[in-house]
Amino acid sequence: MNQTAIARSWVEHANGHNDFPLQNLPLGIFSRPGEAQRCGVAIGDAVLDLEALLVADVFEGAAKVAAEATRGGALNGFFALAPETRRALRECLQALLGEHGEHRSTVEAALYPASECQLHMPARVGDYTDFYVGIEHAKNVGKLFRPDNPLLPNYKYVPIGYHGRASTLRPSGTEVRRPKGQTLPAGQTEPSFGPCARLDYELELGIWIGQGNALGEAIPLARASEHVAGFCLLNDWSARDIQAWEYQPLGPFLSKSFITSVSPWVVMSEALEPFRCAQPGRPEGDPRPLPYLTDAVDQARGAFDIELEVLLVTPRMREQGLAAHRLTLSNTRSMYWTVAQMVAHHSVNGCQLQPGDLFGSGTLSGAQPGAFGSLLEITEGGKQPIELASGEVRTFLEDGDEIILRARCTREGVASIGFGECRGTVIAAN
Ligand code: MN
Repeated sequence: MNQTAIARSWVEHANGHNDFPLQNLPLGIFSRPGEAQRCGVAIGDAVLDLEALLVADVFEGAAKVAAEATRGGALNGFFALAPETRRALRECLQALLGEHGEHRSTVEAALYPASECQLHMPARVGDYTDFYVGIEHAKNVGKLFRPDNPLLPNYKYVPIGYHGRASTLRPSGTEVRRPKGQTLPAGQTEPSFGPCARLDYELELGIWIGQGNALGEAIPLARASEHVAGFCLLNDWSARDIQAWEYQPLGPFLSKSFITSVSPWVVMSEALEPFRCAQPGRPEGDPRPLPYLTDAVDQARGAFDIELEVLLVTPRMREQGLAAHRLTLSNTRSMYWTVAQMVAHHSVNGCQLQPGDLFGSGTLSGAQPGAFGSLLEITEGGKQPIELASGEVRTFLEDGDEIILRARCTREGVASIGFGECRGTVIAAN
């Protein structure tokens, strides 16, 4: 690797940082004890206070317009900006934090240790839509119900999704209360009511919508990427027993709406540019997408190469000081539809998307064991328990279990970046 080609920051701990080097600069909403929630930028192990830089008047022109749009304790106004205005702030921050940055003492005074900062939801989410574009997950789950015909006939034509619950989105670190609900126990004909017994995680990519569209006006595929401001990790916690009983005919409802966790840093689309790649070719015999979902540039550059990981820590592992158990190692290349195709499809009927809307990709499993993005797949519906180094076994999550999602982008010759973490610990039902 040509190290000299990688720009460095005067913030020394940012250089070579696992998640947040100069090349990432994700935005989020943070607070310090007793202070207001405001926009910050992750740089190394620090958070840069944009409000402090605004007060010190270090921004000019479009960068100043963009920085002012981050005010108000949520990034919706920033997401609503034209992409070039958003980019002006990014370029300005890269210059300020770069080796030869100006206003260094001012910027240095606006840096706080990340450990002193609490992170919040980055935006007020008007609508949350969860897709189902992880084809290996769709096949794995389909196989549990239909061994010979796992994918339903619409899958290769329609980026499948459902409308999720925006009010129960929470930032990483929020406890996950085990939901109660109706289930149909095996062999019974009448449902029971009680705490979920098959609590699961789903490893997903979160997609933050930037500029929206007017009601009735579709976003064409060729322009869809411009409507995506950034990305995060998303854990679509799922109560499999509640889901199995309720999902027909209208899809997931209370089995998903009790909480959805998101990582708090918004990794900007621009930071992911070096990690774009070609959409994997469709297998022989798969249909071509309809014209509104077909675009040569999107096929050539519309996928992302992001490594995804899920870790489990049980209470006993914590007591014994054992390392977290890796449940999943997969990649966003398993998406059957690109992010741009998801945006184009969502709006093709005239549905209005708004700045700060959030999409989930759907569970991103790989084809092989070790790459499955939910316990439903790993344990084959609870039939194959996992053995842990602590001597414990798991089919689904127990109270006290913590799930940690991570993501990392690496490519020869460019700085690696990461997403930070999306954590959640299960607590007992009320
Ligand atoms: Mn999901």
